[in-house]
Amino acid sequence: MQRNPATLRATLSELERGKLWRSRRVPARGTANFCSNDYLGLSKHVDVVDAFRQAVDQFGVGSGASHLVTGHSLAHEALEEVLAGILGRERALVYSTGYMANMGVIGTLADQNAAIVADKLNHASLIDGCRLTKAELSRYRHGDAGHAAELLAGIDAAVSTRLLITDGVFSMDGDLAPLPELARAARDAQAWLVVDDAHGLGVVGAKGHGTVEHFGLDADDVPVLVGTFGKAFGTFGAFVAGDADLIEYLVQKSRTYIYTTALPSAVAAATCAALLVSEREPWRREKVMQHARRVHTALKLPGEAQSPIIPIVLGDEARALAASRALEERSLLVTAIRPPTVPAGTARLRVTLSAAHRDAEVSALIDALQEVLAA
Ligand SMILES: *Cc1c(COP(=O)(O)O)cnc(C)c1O
Repeated sequence: MQRNPATLRATLSELERGKLWRSRRVPARGTANFCSNDYLGLSKHVDVVDAFRQAVDQFGVGSGASHLVTGHSLAHEALEEVLAGILGRERALVYSTGYMANMGVIGTLADQNAAIVADKLNHASLIDGCRLTKAELSRYRHGDAGHAAELLAGIDAAVSTRLLITDGVFSMDGDLAPLPELARAARDAQAWLVVDDAHGLGVVGAKGHGTVEHFGLDADDVPVLVGTFGKAFGTFGAFVAGDADLIEYLVQKSRTYIYTTALPSAVAAATCAALLVSEREPWRREKVMQHARRVHTALKLPGEAQSPIIPIVLGDEARALAASRALEERSLLVTAIRPPTVPAGTARLRVTLSAAHRDAEVSALIDALQEVLAA
């Protein structure tokens, strides 16, 4: 179909009619936000803000260039070192965003002769990373490690590189990937296991070191770990962690690392401070999970809360939108998540909790949800 202004208008009208219209909201003052990913409440933490301010004085606002030109500063170096130390990896590499980290690591590892096996519900940036490659892509049923193993076993013997890719905590469902089984399947098939733990780091695991820690696994089991700073750490940016050769390979080859302006140093410094707060204040993890379990139990949802992400699947787009609006009228912000972000017929409210929420706010949310969902 040829694109012209009239076809754009027609597509927009279709989205509107199908209740698939997306709009950006500027949260009104006084609304309690239950859809942010600031799980530990670190985005306004005094140490994080102070580190940011001091680094702006020292380094300026913009980094001025890409890492391989002159954009790489002591703040990036320090962040990478602290991160690698905390996660027990040889090295970590800071990317400007998680989207770019995923496109970078997948695009670099999946060369001409590669095959990728990926969870059906992986984050869009992982899917786009796969699409950017010439690798053959097959997708296994969500969370089904047996199916993943089957697909890996079916890859042509002539393929030189195999990747098994999954979210650690699934962003729209809040459930955990079966990492021990996936690690075994990857090992058996000599595949790289790539885990994007954007929603697990900081929150899951006794020390907040994510799903790898939660399952008692290590760097041998999960050789490629992706994480982001815009979620539990309350800042912005992302990283890939792994052994020294993997990271050096990315520095040399990863296009989304090389051909973009470095993350501002002040953001790196603030992130470093956030990591230290996360290490030092485990109560934040306990608090956010306590809130999550409370909401989960009060709403009688199936299973148990495994992360601060609580999906309330309503199915119908209009119903999800109406519920979100009704909550907004009660000064509670909970976004309706609709296709294509989630599969058709699974439109939902996605409630996320934060250690910064007060118990009374969570009580108000529970009361309002019970009222709105009964209507
Ligand atoms: C948010 C998210 C990303 C993208 O990270 P950004 O830094 O926001 O680009 C990647 N993967 C997952 C699973 C995410 O939730």
